[in-house]
Amino acid sequence: MSIISQNPSLFEAPTVWQKQLSQMFRSAADLYDYLEISQENRKKLLLQHENFPVRVTRAYAARIRKNDIHDPLFLQVAPQRAELETLPGYHTEPLEESDYVIEPGVLQKYQGRALLVTTGACAIHCRYCFRRNFPYQEHRLNQQRWQQQIGNLAGDPGIREVILSGGDPLMLSNQALADMIGHVEQLSQVSTLRLHTRLPIVLPTRIDQGLLDTLAASSLDIVVVIHSNHANELDDSVAKALRDLALVSTAMLNQAVLLADVNDNVKALTELNQRYFSEGVLPYYLHLLDKVSGTHQFAVPVQRAKALVEALRQQLPGYLVPKLVTEAPGHASKLPL
Ligand SMILES: *Cc1c(COP(=O)(O)O)cnc(C)c1O
Ligand code: SF4
Repeated sequence: MSIISQNPSLFEAPTVWQKQLSQMFRSAADLYDYLEISQENRKKLLLQHENFPVRVTRAYAARIRKNDIHDPLFLQVAPQRAELETLPGYHTEPLEESDYVIEPGVLQKYQGRALLVTTGACAIHCRYCFRRNFPYQEHRLNQQRWQQQIGNLAGDPGIREVILSGGDPLMLSNQALADMIGHVEQLSQVSTLRLHTRLPIVLPTRIDQGLLDTLAASSLDIVVVIHSNHANELDDSVAKALRDLALVSTAMLNQAVLLADVNDNVKALTELNQRYFSEGVLPYYLHLLDKVSGTHQFAVPVQRAKALVEALRQQLPGYLVPKLVTEAPGHASKLPL
């Protein structure tokens, strides 16, 4: 036996999910080829985008209908010509806070909760995301930095919950996550750990045994908040990932973004919430789009958004109706509408 095989720490082979991640689509042309987008249809799309390139896992692309530029999943990941325009009222930094930076390791606080930006990386680039205008998507987490940030919370007795956000915290390795959770567990006042993640949807193999074991072993209540906008995003592999996560979590919630032509109708929102409920996930927030340059094609007017949620309320049990919210700078919470 070689030394390497006796001592796995000397040589860590990529895991299944890391290998799949490395095989994702990273260019519009490759994605359009795979989806058999006709030359005619390509004229309506962008072939590249410098700041915010195409990123789509193969698992997600497999759920998109071929040569259908109106497919609700395709619309979320394919750069449209409209992205090049900035309409009045749209900004590169919609939250308009001069010190607003999404650098990894930075903590932001609401009362009782501390949100840690763990990594800038995502396994998908959602075209409506506010992160699209920042050129530093892939920034790595600095270990010293987050240890210090979590350590500082020891002097803050009011913090009951630590939220790992990003980017996507599940882009971190199981080892990095276990280290981080270990540090959070040392804070005696903290009882809950929350994960904000889209990985169970876009790369379900990420929910591997090592992750499940780490979460199961934690003394903290685990809350998983996924991000899915359409029932077509839920296939059998996603369902399995969610069921596995549910076994090690205290609560599973979904936040969605209300997006024109993707899910801005009663049928799509009803199916979204019913299908995820069947896999143990309740709706949490329905976000209005942040007014970020290049995203106006996804905007849904507030009055229409309210009418949609009202229609949901009339035909669904209360627990399947999400809270319609928007984000505004300088507030102590999301703003309910
Ligand atoms: C959105 C957000 C949270 C979480 O808010 P909830 O309403 O508890 O989901 C926490 N901290 C910050 C800074 C946030 O932006
Ligand atoms: S997964 Fe979330 S953070 Fe990442 S690009 Fe999509 S919306 Fe933005």
